[in-house]
Amino acid sequence: MVTTNALELAVLGGLFAEEIRAKLQDYVLTDNDCMLFRGFKAGYRTICSHGLVAKAHRLAWTLERGEIPDFMTLDHRVVCRTTCINVNHMEVVTLRVNIQRGNARRFPRVFA
Ligand SMILES: [Zn+2]
Repeated sequence: MVTTNALELAVLGGLFAEEIRAKLQDYVLTDNDCMLFRGFKAGYRTICSHGLVAKAHRLAWTLERGEIPDFMTLDHRVVCRTTCINVNHMEVVTLRVNIQRGNARRFPRVFA
């Protein structure tokens, strides 16, 4: 189940916004406007603040667009990597759609 986590709730409540915004500036802009967030781990990047942690792309969305509804998730454009934090490259979808799209990308012959 995907739910708004503690750090996302803090941002929604107006806390730590400037600090999170500053941390989100650590990205590389690509030719197709992807904003690839820098970080040390593979996969989704995270941001830590005040002992709380959340995924960078979810924090970017929360700051720019607001709350991500429960049971919903952010799906990246086909051409995006999961480290992209450009909110214009994401869409709020159900988990079912997110998994279906992920499968379609991984196994294009099966899900075409
Ligand atoms: Zn992107």
